[in-house]
Amino acid sequence: MSEAIPLGRIAGFGVKVHWSVIVILWLFTWSLASTLPGTVKGYSHAAYWLAGACGAVVLLASLLAHELAHAVVARRMGVSVRDVTLWLFGGVTSLEGEAKTPKAAFRIAFVGPATSLVLSAGFAGLAIALGAVHAAAIAVSVAWWLATINLLLGLFNLLPGAPLDGGRVVRAYLWHRYGDSVRASVGAAHAGRVVAIILITLGLAEFLAGGLIGGVWLAFIGWFIFTAAREEEMQVTTRQALAGLRVVDAMTANPHTAPGWLTVEDFIQRYVLGDRHSAYPVADRDGSTMGLVTLRQLRELAPDRRTTTSVREIALPLDSVPTAAPREPLSALIDRLSSAGHGSRALVIDGGQVVGIVTPSDLARLIDVYRLAQPGPGPGSAALRHDANSATVGSSKI
Ligand SMILES: [Zn+2]
Repeated sequence: MSEAIPLGRIAGFGVKVHWSVIVILWLFTWSLASTLPGTVKGYSHAAYWLAGACGAVVLLASLLAHELAHAVVARRMGVSVRDVTLWLFGGVTSLEGEAKTPKAAFRIAFVGPATSLVLSAGFAGLAIALGAVHAAAIAVSVAWWLATINLLLGLFNLLPGAPLDGGRVVRAYLWHRYGDSVRASVGAAHAGRVVAIILITLGLAEFLAGGLIGGVWLAFIGWFIFTAAREEEMQVTTRQALAGLRVVDAMTANPHTAPGWLTVEDFIQRYVLGDRHSAYPVADRDGSTMGLVTLRQLRELAPDRRTTTSVREIALPLDSVPTAAPREPLSALIDRLSSAGHGSRALVIDGGQVVGIVTPSDLARLIDVYRLAQPGPGPGSAALRHDANSATVGSSKI
């Protein structure tokens, strides 16, 4: 969700909104504005739409409260929070790292739906109070609507399959029971797929029974949960695959070095043509490494400038290239690579010398090999995406 717009900070957390929030704001406004005339009569068209819009905005604030509750408890449990984002399917709280114990994981997960349920009770109380003081009927109706939707949100999020909060609760339970967080994650992801298939089936049934929009929406959410559950399972098995491996196991050793003083044209003619590498450490005349040049950077230079530009001028400087030591755990490097962005490469440095390079295809190949060695992984293994960013290790979203 790179297109998310930062809104500011709440309780010390960065809050962002994705453009797709407009879709849910509109859906909530429209559904409230079109059901209100059935329950409270005698208001103008504009009043229903205004009430609808107010209800939708308060509901969005309720979704934000749900996410902030996750974030606050995560911080209290010692897990740092990257940010909170609102989008098409509600909210996402991105955590850096994981809860240390099943109990902490349970608290972080459970507090979200609990907040929605408390909000539901609060809006129901407000509706009763407004009714008691004979407030405008339309306001009472909006308060009941907020109570109902928050109740549904709380219950829906408690469905027992990852990536829903209920799935995280299941994961915490399995982790507590078996003492193995990887096995627990795989179990919760499987449960997520089952929940997703049930939702898709219900959505299609509703669609066939004539509930067109509701049916499609339910099936769409089911499909989203299905793909997210599969992705999570892959992340977990990737982490399992890479556990115990070191950077030296993944790197391409002794990479070809690009002389920084050559022109780009000379470098392409003398080194790149007929070679199979996609990135080269760049050396200075004294032999020291000053950066990294990739085929992409060569391609991005206008052809008529190739004879007048040196490799050194277009190379990424060393301080913006992720580096690693050969004996370092591979999972730690993957964390750095995924925060450095899509398609980034790392230089492996030992005693001041470049001894290797790690590319996304090195990692993809390593994971493929691991999967081949697994007994009966089934057809799902073909779905592995060939980029290092799908191999995100040690971060999670709730
Ligand atoms: Zn949640």
